[in-house]
Amino acid sequence: MPLKKSWVTSANDAHHPFPLNNLPYGVFSTGGGRARCGVAIGDMILDLQAAEEAGVVRLGTEPFFEMPFWNEFMEEGPAVWAALRDRLTTLLQDGAQDQKKVEPLLVPTKDAELHMPFMVSEYTDFYAGRHHATNVGTMFRGAENALPPNWLHIPIGYNGRASSVVVSGTEVRRPWGQVRGPDDETPRWAPCTRFDIELEMGAIVGTPSERPITVQEADDHIFGYVLLNDWSARDIQAWEYQPLGPFQSKATATSISPWIVTKAALEPFRCSTPAREVELLDHLEDCGPMLYDIDLSVSLRPDGGAEETLARTNYREMYYSAAQQLAHHTTSGCPMNAGDLLGSGTISGPNKNERGSLLELSWGGKDPITLASGATRSFIEDGDTLTLTGAARGDGYTIGFGECTGKVTPALADPYAR
Ligand code: MN
Repeated sequence: MPLKKSWVTSANDAHHPFPLNNLPYGVFSTGGGRARCGVAIGDMILDLQAAEEAGVVRLGTEPFFEMPFWNEFMEEGPAVWAALRDRLTTLLQDGAQDQKKVEPLLVPTKDAELHMPFMVSEYTDFYAGRHHATNVGTMFRGAENALPPNWLHIPIGYNGRASSVVVSGTEVRRPWGQVRGPDDETPRWAPCTRFDIELEMGAIVGTPSERPITVQEADDHIFGYVLLNDWSARDIQAWEYQPLGPFQSKATATSISPWIVTKAALEPFRCSTPAREVELLDHLEDCGPMLYDIDLSVSLRPDGGAEETLARTNYREMYYSAAQQLAHHTTSGCPMNAGDLLGSGTISGPNKNERGSLLELSWGGKDPITLASGATRSFIEDGDTLTLTGAARGDGYTIGFGECTGKVTPALADPYAR
C-alpha cells in the first residue's frame, strides 16, 4: 500500500511519523486548558472533541470524545474503530470536500502538551523475547540453564502496576530499595545503583473478555500498540525476584509513548513469529502472522551531552506475539478490560548492538559500554535521558509512534531517615 496523500502537506513526507496511513490517537491540551482526544496528522493534531461539536465527526448519538482518554471508544469494538478511521481518512485526504470545515479544528503539535492517551486499567509485563531471556538467563544461571523449563511452552509474565505507568516526558526518580549484592553479608537499604531500561512494545486491549479466548480472538481484541520502557532496578530485582518474580524493582515507573498506533495502521507490516523450537499446545498456536515489522531503537543523552544510539532491534524478534500473550492471559478465565496494557518483554536481537537493556549491553556491568564522549556506562546515571523510538517503513511513508523518553533524576534523601 503506498502513501495516502493528505491536504495537510507535512503528512506527505516519506519520513514523517504521522502520515494519513497512520492516524494515531492521543490526548492533548493547549495553553494549560482541558485535556481532550486528538489524532495526529503530520505536524498537526485534529481536535476530536471540537470535530464532534462541529458535527464533522459523529459516531452514534452520544458524544465520544468529551473524556480525556480513549477507553470508552476502545470498548466499542472493531466496527466503530473502522468507522472512525474511515471518516478521518475521508476528512483528511487530499481533495477532501470538508477541508475548509476541518482546517480550523487543527492545532499545531508544537503548541500542545501530550497526556496519557488512555486509562491503564491493568498492566501485565511478559518475558517473551528469546534473545533477552537467553542473555539474562545465561548471566544469572549459566548457558545450560538460560531458559526456564516453561519458557518455550507459555509466554511467562507478572502482574505489574497500572498506577506506575506514565506518559513519555515524565521524569523518573531513582528509587531506593533493599538490596543484597554478592559482596553483602546482609541486606542493605540504599538507592538503586543498577537502574536500567527495557525496550518493549505495549499492546492495548480494546474489546473486554470474561472467558478464555483463542489467539485469533485475542488478535481481534487488541486495539493498538505503544512503545514501552519498563524501568528496572536490577540490584533490587536480583534480591527480591525469587520465587514470585519482580516486585518493587519494576514499580517505580513504566513509560509509554503518547500516541496509540492502531492495529489497523500496522496491518501492512504483519509478520510471523520465528520458527517454534517445540510445538505449542493447540490453544497457543499461531494462526497467522501476528507480529509486526517495526524498527526499534534506544538512545541515551547524558545531562548536557549529545544523544547517541545504544541499540537497534525489531519487534519481529519476539518469540510470542501480543495475541498469544493475551490468549494465554485469559486461559484461567481472567477478565480483561479496555485499557489493559500488555508489555511484550524486552526486545533484543541476536547481535550485541541489538540488545534492549543496559544489563545485556554491559553484560551485567562486566563490560561497560563507551559513549562518544569517552564516558562509560554500565547502568543509568543521574541526568541521563533514555529515549525509545519505533518506525514501520512502508512504500513512501513511515508509521511512527512518537518518542518514549524519560530523564532519570537523583534519588531523594532517605525517605525513612529519622
Ligand atoms: Mn519488562
